[in-house]
Amino acid sequence: MKEDERGKMFEDRKIHYLTGLPNAGGYLDEIIRKMKDGTIQNYTAFYFNLKGFGNINQRYGMEKGDMIIVRLSEKVKDFLEDDEVLGHLGGDNFVALVKKERKEKFCRLLNGIEIILETEGHSYKLRIPSTIGLWDINDEFTDPGETIGRTSIALQYAKHIQHVPVVSVTDAMVERVAVQKSVLQRYQSALSNHEFLVYYQPKVDSRNNMLVGAEGLVRWKHKGEMVSPGIFIPPLETNGEIVLLDYYVLRRACTDIKRWIDEGIEPVTISVNFSRKDLMDPDLAENIDRIITNSGIDKKFIEIEVTETVDEQEHGELARFISDLDSRGIMTAIDDFGAGYSSLATLREFQVHTLKIDRSFINTEEFSWKDEIILRDIIHIATSLGMDIITEGVERQDQIDFINKVGCFVIQGFFYDRPLPVEEFEDRLRNKKYEKK
Ligand code: C2E
Ligand code: CA
Ligand code: CA
Repeated sequence: MKEDERGKMFEDRKIHYLTGLPNAGGYLDEIIRKMKDGTIQNYTAFYFNLKGFGNINQRYGMEKGDMIIVRLSEKVKDFLEDDEVLGHLGGDNFVALVKKERKEKFCRLLNGIEIILETEGHSYKLRIPSTIGLWDINDEFTDPGETIGRTSIALQYAKHIQHVPVVSVTDAMVERVAVQKSVLQRYQSALSNHEFLVYYQPKVDSRNNMLVGAEGLVRWKHKGEMVSPGIFIPPLETNGEIVLLDYYVLRRACTDIKRWIDEGIEPVTISVNFSRKDLMDPDLAENIDRIITNSGIDKKFIEIEVTETVDEQEHGELARFISDLDSRGIMTAIDDFGAGYSSLATLREFQVHTLKIDRSFINTEEFSWKDEIILRDIIHIATSLGMDIITEGVERQDQIDFINKVGCFVIQGFFYDRPLPVEEFEDRLRNKKYEKK
């Protein structure tokens, strides 16, 4: 029998050719059966795969890898009671339905399954742990596919976001994944339908409470709700599509500035974020220049914010980008300075106009004396080099006192204002003075 005919035969029988366990179709049949007899709510659904199985395959070969999968599935099967189900989706991906009161025990089992492997006359004992996503099936459950869908989301969180062995899925995780998917699907049309809006967060000089600038922050108006960038920017960055959005935000900011000037409102400099992923576009600086120039506003009203990087290649690209903008007369700011990998090299090599101190320095109940010394020195160096300094994420008076003490006076944060819709920001522009807080 040919390989694909054999595969089809197993597919029709809804079992996996290697382990003989139900495959996805067979597993879903079991779920549907339990839904019909009204017992499904007694179970926790699992999705698990084996940690480091790729390495095992490389080291011992596919054949031994298959053997490990078979033995491991037998051990898991031995643990299960008659009404419980184990399914094999393929590769090292398994699903299971285990009674709720036995779920902890099951997790402990999966935490490390011992397998004896014989190779060339030796036998090895391998202990194979799994990464697990789980979901306690509840009363609202109607779609059998959710047992696989929801648990696979939990598994992705366990592996790539929380880096822990077990994650129990929450509605927030499911919602987040749904939004991310829909962003990627709807991005182009969202852009052309102007579903992205720019909010402006004021920057205020704490010495005289005067508005001195603002940061443009993107929002997505999705089904009447404002979705924050933390949700939709990461998938766009991995897709390399974020640059279109960043150009869009810049264009909107330029248009707003132009309108304010036309209406006789004196604008302030607006900073716009560009993702490091955008640096892959070799014409980035030129395109930014063209957008600003075409809008007819003075370049002094725009500043480009970028974050630092440890990656050496990116570091070079970033340095070129910043000096390219500088030679075109466009200002730049280093965003989140101090959050990750800031170095003195950044201050030395980059022709930046502004250093934006990350909120992690002030986001504490008690300020550390070490931070105080570091900040004071960094601010001293940066100011001596002619840079402007701003601190972001400022919410309280004691934080203002602290950063004033180390030499920074311009502030962006909830203390003065949250990011504001454009109409509200225009009120601030008309009356640039903040009442004493
Ligand atoms: P970011 O550039 O560091 O922007 C500052 C973030 O801190 C904003 O979140 C702002 O709302 C928030 N924030 C401001 N003041 C406070 C405060 O006092 N307390 C607290 N807890 N938070 C404060 P937002 O608007 O959700 O933006 C998150 C991130 O998304 C931004 O971080 C930026 O990295 C990215 N982002 C926003 N708009 C764009 C954009 O147009 N393009 C790109 N590439 N990234 C953007
Ligand atoms: Ca920023
Ligand atoms: Ca920032």
